Amino acid sequence: MGTSYNVKYYGPAQPALETDIETVLTQLENALSTYKPDSEVSRFNLAQANEWFPVSPSTASIVETGQEISRISDGAFDITVGPLVELWGFGASAFQSEPPTAELIAERLRYVGYKLIEVQTNPPALKKYHAQTSIDLSAIAKGYAVDELAVLLDANGIGNWLIEVGGELRARGKKPDGTLWKIAIEKPLAGSRTVQKIISLIDSAVATSGDYRNFFEYNSVRYSHSINPKTGWPVPGNIGSVSVIADEAIYADSWATALLVLGEEKALKLAIDKGLAVSMIVRDDTGELRERVSPAFAERIGPQD
Ligand code: FAD
Repeated sequence: MGTSYNVKYYGPAQPALETDIETVLTQLENALSTYKPDSEVSRFNLAQANEWFPVSPSTASIVETGQEISRISDGAFDITVGPLVELWGFGASAFQSEPPTAELIAERLRYVGYKLIEVQTNPPALKKYHAQTSIDLSAIAKGYAVDELAVLLDANGIGNWLIEVGGELRARGKKPDGTLWKIAIEKPLAGSRTVQKIISLIDSAVATSGDYRNFFEYNSVRYSHSINPKTGWPVPGNIGSVSVIADEAIYADSWATALLVLGEEKALKLAIDKGLAVSMIVRDDTGELRERVSPAFAERIGPQD
């Protein structure tokens, strides 16, 4: 998936486990990658409109969850943002170093919108209402992959583990010394790895979306890879990062992008309304960082360092 994974567990060594982990991740990549022309998602993206396109149960399940987050976030999260992601150079096509023209953005916006696709799970299939609509699961699939590895470890009788795929994490149980799994949330600073804070995870997942890793600057303006599906433009740079804690990594992953796109005030109101555990690091006009945390976030993290 163009990134790395890490699985830590305590218990008797299980040599076959690493092979099983790689099998799960390879199967998901082969189904979901827009970087592989023969993946299910890539073939759906080239398929005709108004026809059911059969997919694997996992692809249908991911799209179903993505559509649920789209509905609740009023379209801020939107897997049909793919054509815009490619236009801005953040997908499989060539990286860009300046914004596309307004005409090109307007042209792509004609076939972006979560209501332009439909998903069914029995039998699992996707349908799109515009031939040029395409989906990009980069903001949700890694979370799903973490959850699939959690199922695998639980099925092998492992009760204490920490799983990470491309920065999306999920923990179960404790370390042998009885302490909780600790993870660092970093400051949203490009080019550096500085810790904002260390949190302990209590049988939870955490994901972070931000504008400080995958971006370009043009005329001193930063354009990052989180795109507002309604405007076709990357989100403005006042939010450095959004971290979300949830029971499952698919929800932490997709909510982190949804809330980043929604913007500071709307995101925090939705987080409070829906009881989402959210920590947002925002930049003020001087570039100073300040943190805004939903009540549920404080409740979900263990003792702070
Ligand atoms: P997140 O913040 O989790 O998500 C941001 C990404 O979501 C953006 O990059 C964009 O793709 C998409 N997005 C932007 N705006 C929205 C929105 N409003 N709603 C929904 N989605 C949005 N990268 C490579 O370089 N090489 C590869 O071979 C490769 N293979 C991949 C295979 C798979 C199956 C997947 C899922 C991704 C792959 N990637 C690859 C992409 C890479 O793994 C990351 O997904 C990408 O860099 C973003 O991850 P993130 O956690 O930083 O961003």
